[in-house]
Amino acid sequence: MDRRDFITLSGMMAAGAAIAPGLASCSQREDDAPERYKCQLLVVGGGPSGVCAAVAAARKGIQTILMDSGNCLGGMGTKGLVGPFMTCYDAKGENMIIRGLFEEIVDRLIALGGAIHPREIRQGTEFTAWISEGHDHCTPFDPEILKLVYDRICQEAGVKVLFNTQFLRPVMNGRRIKGALISGPSGLERISADIVIDSTGDGTVAARSGVPFVFGDKESGRVQPASLFFRINNVDTDRLIADVVPHLPEFRRVNGVSYRCLHWRVAEAEAAGEWDLARKSVNIWRSVEKDQWVVNCTRIHNVDSTDTENLTAAEFEGRRQVEELMHFFHKYVPGCEKATLMGTGSVMGIRESRHPQGDYVQKVDDLIAGVIPDDSILLSANSIDVHGAVGGPAGGLYMPIKKDMYGIPYRALLPGDVDSLLLAGRCISADSASAGAIRVMPPAMAIGQAAGTAAALSILGKVQPRDLDTAELIAALKQDKAFLP
Ligand SMILES: Cc1cc2nc3c(=O)[nH]c(=O)nc-3n(C[C@H](O)[C@H](O)[C@H](O)COP(=O)(O)OP(=O)(O)OC[C@H]3O[C@@H](n4cnc5c(N)ncnc54)[C@H](O)[C@@H]3O)c2cc1C
Repeated sequence: MDRRDFITLSGMMAAGAAIAPGLASCSQREDDAPERYKCQLLVVGGGPSGVCAAVAAARKGIQTILMDSGNCLGGMGTKGLVGPFMTCYDAKGENMIIRGLFEEIVDRLIALGGAIHPREIRQGTEFTAWISEGHDHCTPFDPEILKLVYDRICQEAGVKVLFNTQFLRPVMNGRRIKGALISGPSGLERISADIVIDSTGDGTVAARSGVPFVFGDKESGRVQPASLFFRINNVDTDRLIADVVPHLPEFRRVNGVSYRCLHWRVAEAEAAGEWDLARKSVNIWRSVEKDQWVVNCTRIHNVDSTDTENLTAAEFEGRRQVEELMHFFHKYVPGCEKATLMGTGSVMGIRESRHPQGDYVQKVDDLIAGVIPDDSILLSANSIDVHGAVGGPAGGLYMPIKKDMYGIPYRALLPGDVDSLLLAGRCISADSASAGAIRVMPPAMAIGQAAGTAAALSILGKVQPRDLDTAELIAALKQDKAFLP
């Protein structure tokens, strides 16, 4: 059997469902869900980490299924419209240290006109909302072109992608995960897999498999605020820049509250009683096309993305804030009088939720001190950025790192005592503040590549991920162009 021919165990049932669409799912009970797929690796969640995990494994000949609840790959970077890619350089801004699949994806985007190379982007410019700390060498990209790049890189690698498919619960054998119960257009079905990667962002697979987790900050129980991103176009960029640049010397942070881009226009709107948002300035980033900008300004506090009603209320509030911001742009911001709303994220931007507890819990002090553990699977220099942590609803905690970079250990990808499971992306084992640094997309992709490579080596070597020789893993990552010591 070709490695790309996934075993479809219930083909007859699928044919029956095609004759009478929907009938199978109407009457289905969970216990009757057929085992539709058998694969070696199941990756749950097709965000940046899940895509890189699936591609890394499939390129090593592993039968890989990548499933996502949405209709495209990319998670927050496409459905959530968040961007640009945060820095992939060291803290001095001299060397690109997140490479491997991340770099390949950036190069593919550029080839399609969908990104500007990070070497050309400096902090303190319109591409970084004029923020001048921790934002050197970001990568602006077009989310629609990113969807295409992710489709193609997965298809070329032989990853079987299942869209519109929700992970419901794991199938367990004692403490070992051996598959998943899923719900998609074909109804309730099962997938069996040798290894499962949790790249859901919320750590849903781990939590439902019994892995202990901390929700938000361990002490306060708070999570970072959520934000609904949106994109605008038809902006007279030259006039907008001309309004901002003379105010750059006034940019400041007071008690954790940022008075940065357009804070003078926010003050005008506030004085007129037309601003009730928590922020005092507007993060607005120029995109690849000159008249297009990404807006990161809505802020919704205490959102629990694992609670259906709470998340629903947040979606309503996010769109209400977008309406208020569009009024603000039209009335108060030079160059934005005729700006058009291109779209809001089709998912709420969730910065923080569950932190599954793994063999090692990544600590913020390690990042600040620049610790590079022997089993590091990634080097990064993203600074610690905890929105809404101090200074009232608008305040945030920002901690620069003291060395050029820090390392993330493989142990943070290994969840508690559940076997055959790996964590990737935002939901690796980390404390709240350190997650505020490594959750951004370039490190999430590098973590995904490491998780997929570890899964592949474990399957090929017939060992549990926990027993994998980390020297072998690091050698494989280096061979695949990851930047590691
Ligand atoms: C408001 C906000 C602003 C941000 N700004 C930036 C920025 O400017 N630059 C940057 O680099 N990063 C930014 N980030 C961080 C970054 O976008 C995310 O942390 C990153 O995308 C995490 O990647 P991931 O693969 O772990 O998860 P995600 O991107 O969240 O992807 C997870 C995927 O899993 C799917 N999924 C979840 N549960 C299930 C389930 N039960 N069944 C099936 N599928 C499921 C989801 O639909 C989603 O597609 C921002 C994040 C937010 C929320």
